[in-house]
Amino acid sequence: MVSKIELAKSNRSTCKICNQKIEKDTPRFGLESVFKRGEDEFTSYKWHHIECMLKNNPDAFINAEGLDLLTPEQESELAKLKEKSLSSGVSFFEVEDLTGEEGKVNVQAKVFRLLPAREVEFRGSFVDAKTLQIGNSARRVKFLLFDTNQEIKKGDTVYLKGVLSDLSEEGGVLLYSDPDTKVYLNEPPSEENKLQIYVSAELDNPPNTTCEFSVAKSSRAKCFVCKEPIQKGEPKLSKPSWIETPRGKIVGNVSYHLECALSDSDSEEMMKEAFSKLTPQFISENADMLQTIKEKLSKPTQTFISDYF
Ligand SMILES: [Zn+2]
Ligand SMILES: [Zn+2]
Repeated sequence: MVSKIELAKSNRSTCKICNQKIEKDTPRFGLESVFKRGEDEFTSYKWHHIECMLKNNPDAFINAEGLDLLTPEQESELAKLKEKSLSSGVSFFEVEDLTGEEGKVNVQAKVFRLLPAREVEFRGSFVDAKTLQIGNSARRVKFLLFDTNQEIKKGDTVYLKGVLSDLSEEGGVLLYSDPDTKVYLNEPPSEENKLQIYVSAELDNPPNTTCEFSVAKSSRAKCFVCKEPIQKGEPKLSKPSWIETPRGKIVGNVSYHLECALSDSDSEEMMKEAFSKLTPQFISENADMLQTIKEKLSKPTQTFISDYF
């Protein structure tokens, strides 16, 4: 994958992180994405503000073209980030470096105060969350952890990967988790590749898609194996697939009951992909089912999955 930094040719592109416009003639960061239609391959770029990319995905700068367009400040920020990422494989910010700008960041901080799980008001609705006060001697911020099953103690150091940052109502920085946020306690994750989504080489996945577990939003999808409908609210596994149409291949999805998916000839590869994308919420709601499935898989697949479940 080739990434490049260039001056925006127009003001029509929007940043894929903050969704704001990128002004013409200002540097933008392009992540290459390749998609196929029939036999043809197309390359396009997903554009980002340099600042948003530095906060969100500094590792992407390593092999990027056009680094000379960075300002001296951005260059030194990048150098600082690289130094940090050498030790852990992932770059984590200190709490005092956070600006409260909306977006995803990785943060490292100490837990000073921890309130037990309770209902908190968040953006006009009530949700179960643990409220943590985290930070260092220079600054403390509030962190809302929506996965209330996570065991965290006062004095722990938390490494939050992919935490959402925002301004709180009081004007301070507010951090909150989402299903993709990963919380590591006392040790930063040692290998970045363990956290990446597994993409099977065996499956003919359409680009940028992987098998995943989810909860059926309606009862319309039929299971590919037993042909029975998957009831609304039931867990299911979706496998992205190519669908042949008279006008060429288009991207679609095949759905399975979790247990039925085990009888598919690609079950092991499908499960590897889906387990690597598990969300804390899906785990907490379907732990028994996932355990049953795990036990029916081959030993190598079980070993692979244990990084995720
Ligand atoms: Zn942006
Ligand atoms: Zn079925």
